[in-house]
Parts: sequence; C-alpha cells; structure tokens
Amino acid sequence: MEAKGSKYLYDYFVIGGGSGGLASAKHAAKLGKRVALADFVKPSPLGTKWGIGGTCVNVGCIPKKLMHFAATTGELRHDQELCGWKVDMSVKHDWDTMIGNVNNHIRSLNWGYKTQLMKEKIKYYNMLASIEDPHTVKLIDAKTNEPLYVTAEHICIAVGGRPQYLDIPNCKELCITSDDLFWLKKPPGKSLIIGAGYIALECGGFLRGMGRDVDILVRSRPLRGFDTEMVDKVITYMKYTGINFVTGTPVSFDKEGEGVKVGMKIQENGATVEKSVVYDNVLIAIGRYPDIKELKLENVGVELAPNGKIKVDERWTSSVDSIHALGDVSSIGLELTPVAIKEGRNLVDGLFKNEWKKIDYKTVCTAVFTPLEYAVCGYNEHDAIEAFGVDDIDVYTSSFKPTEWA
Ligand code: FAD
Repeated sequence: MEAKGSKYLYDYFVIGGGSGGLASAKHAAKLGKRVALADFVKPSPLGTKWGIGGTCVNVGCIPKKLMHFAATTGELRHDQELCGWKVDMSVKHDWDTMIGNVNNHIRSLNWGYKTQLMKEKIKYYNMLASIEDPHTVKLIDAKTNEPLYVTAEHICIAVGGRPQYLDIPNCKELCITSDDLFWLKKPPGKSLIIGAGYIALECGGFLRGMGRDVDILVRSRPLRGFDTEMVDKVITYMKYTGINFVTGTPVSFDKEGEGVKVGMKIQENGATVEKSVVYDNVLIAIGRYPDIKELKLENVGVELAPNGKIKVDERWTSSVDSIHALGDVSSIGLELTPVAIKEGRNLVDGLFKNEWKKIDYKTVCTAVFTPLEYAVCGYNEHDAIEAFGVDDIDVYTSSFKPTEWA
C-alpha cells in the first residue's frame, strides 16, 4: 500500500541481500523508511545454490574462514605431539563432517537474516529483480514466472559479483569455482587451483591443510597488489606445507574417469612445455565479474565503468539520479564485506538524513589466510613509492618468529 504523500510504494528498494544490501536496508528501516529488499541466487553452472546473505555468508568469507580454521586445527596436531599430547596422525580429515557443520552454520545465518528482515518490517522478495524505469523494479517469481512491478523513490543495486570461467571448452561443465567448493558433497581429492589471487591461494591453502594434494597454476606473480616482500613469505610458507606452484596456463579440460584431464603450457627450466595431468577437482579462481546481466540497466541507460561495474560518484549514485550502486558491483571501493556494509549505511545516511560521509578506501585493512595469516593496511611499498616518490619514503622492516614456532 502506498503511504500518504508519496508517489511510490517504497522509499528505498534494495536489489541484493548480501553484505551491502542487507546492511543498507536495515539501516534505512531503522530510520523509519518504507524498505523492501529482493534477493535471488542464480545456481552455479554445476547447480550449487544457497540462501539469503550474499557471497560473504554463503560462498565467501564465512565458509572460507571456517575451512581455514579446520585446516589449522589439523596442522596443530604436529605441535600437539611436541607438546606432549598423544595424537593419532593416521586419522585423516573427514570432509563430510566438516562440510555438514559449515553448511548447517550457513543455513542458520540465512534463517537469521530472514527473521531480521521481518523484525525490521522490511518486505523481502525472494525474486530476481531488474530495472524497469528509474523508479520501478520488476520482480520475477521463479515458480510462476509471473512479473510483479514495484515502485520506489530510491533503488539501491547491491548485486555483487560471480566467479569468472576460462574461455576453454568444458570449463563450466568440468571445473568448480568457490561457489561450488564450499558446498561440495564429494570430498575433494587431488586438486588443481587455477589463479593467483587471494581466493585461489586461500582455497589451495586450506585444502592442503586438510591433507589434499594441491597444485596451483599461476600465470605470473601471485597476490598482485600486496607487498612483494610479504608475498614472498606467504609463498615460501605455502611451498613448505607441500603446495606445488606451477607457472603456466591451462589449454584444455577433458573428462577422464571421475576426474578432469588438464592440458597446460607450463614454464620448465626456461622453456615452455606442454603436459597434461589428471586431477580429481579443478577450481577456477581467476577473478570475479559484476553480476549485472539480468538487471536490464539498458532500460534506463545506467552507465558502466570500463571494468564493467556500475559507474557511481562518491555518493554511490549512478548516471540515473534515483539509482545507486554499492559493494562489489560499484565502480569505486574494494571487494570486501566491511566496505560494502559501510557504503550501504553511508548511502542511507546521505539519502535520508543528508549526511554525506566519504570513505577513505586507501586506509581499509585487509587480511589473507593463506594459510599464514597476513594483514595489511594502507599503501604497499610499491604503491607508496609511486604515490609519493622514492625520496619521500622510508621503509622499515622487522621480522620475528612467533614463540610457538620454536
Ligand atoms: P554480495 O554479498 O555478493 O550479495 C549480492 C546478492 O545479490 C547475492 O545474494 C545475489 O544472489 C543477489 N543478486 C544478484 N543479482 C540479483 C538480482 N538481479 N535480483 C535479486 N538478487 C540478486 N571479503 C572480506 O571482507 N573478507 C574476506 O575474508 C572475504 N573472503 C572472501 C572469500 C571468497 C571465496 C569470496 C568469493 C569473497 C570473499 N570476500 C571477502 C568478498 C566479500 O564476500 C564481498 O566483498 C561481499 O560479499 C560483497 O557484498 P555485496 O553486498 O556487494 O554483494
């Protein structure tokens, strides 16, 4: 029902029930606004799907951190032995138990989000949304395929991103991504991880920690954007745990028995050689793309940035005044949950209280769990030199061994 004095059904309509969208919707509701939120999960090409909460909760930070923890508890067994505990090292990691517990925890979070929305009187549509006009959202009911049109003064797009695949035949049919790994029913065996970013390295790290054989296929330097000296330490440790780094590129994927035969061109002793190896699992972690195809942004002429994300100004507003974008899908910011949450709340304060607060993206902290835990804040050495000039930068390094490592 429309409120008196308003042309629109809602003051604020959020598309995407992930980190940014949920935080933003709840913040607007707390200000007494009439709020609605649509969230719909498109299954991965292998059919994996999950509930409300977005990437972080279902296929990102939360299961990743739990699996990292699971792996480190395994590594601790070596320390336990030295500390006098009797440990049966022949006991192998049980994937079924872990995945069952991780997935149940996620389901409880999904349930928690739904009840929070009800409590805050936010209307929840479990439907795929697209933009019909600057103030109208079209919602499709997956069961009936019937459209529903709702209007709002402001529309916030917080649809996040999805993992990219390689343009190689059979890639989508035979390979998994992080969207599948965290819900994998069949225990992973010998695994190939393709990619060099933090997601590739973290997944490789915890799989190795759980006792799996892991190869990581990288095209060039891993963890670009992080301080090179620290990256070297991370990689040295990963190799020490038994992870095999291979420099090269994949060229083919073919089914072989229950596994995947991967053809690759790799660098060996300064030469490029072709070889093929059979893996039980191949995980593609080469980056993520903004999930905007279904939004029909062309209906209203929302502009995109060169990287394909929705172009926004410092107030997270797109080229159409009533349409805003934040989190992983917006052209500014960083692909991190706390950033999406902060943007969601700041946008609401700006729109409904006229309190516009900028975010200093340069001073956002981040951490990797590779499995050595490495945290960073601000510029890396290379970027600092580029920004301020080599003469104005002093670099201090210090290293120490944690006592436990003795
Ligand atoms: P999302 O959380 O992706 O939510 C978008 C939602 O919109 C999804 O539920 C999607 O299904 C829905 N949607 C999409 N299109 C439509 C539509 N048309 N209609 C309705 N609904 C739609 N960040 C950290 O800060 N720390 C970490 O440790 C960390 N680890 C990560 C590990 C992995 C493996 C991955 C993949 C990501 C990780 N991230 C981490 C990043 C973090 O998950 C994202 O930055 C964050 O989830 C972005 O939030 P968002 O609100 O922009 O979008």
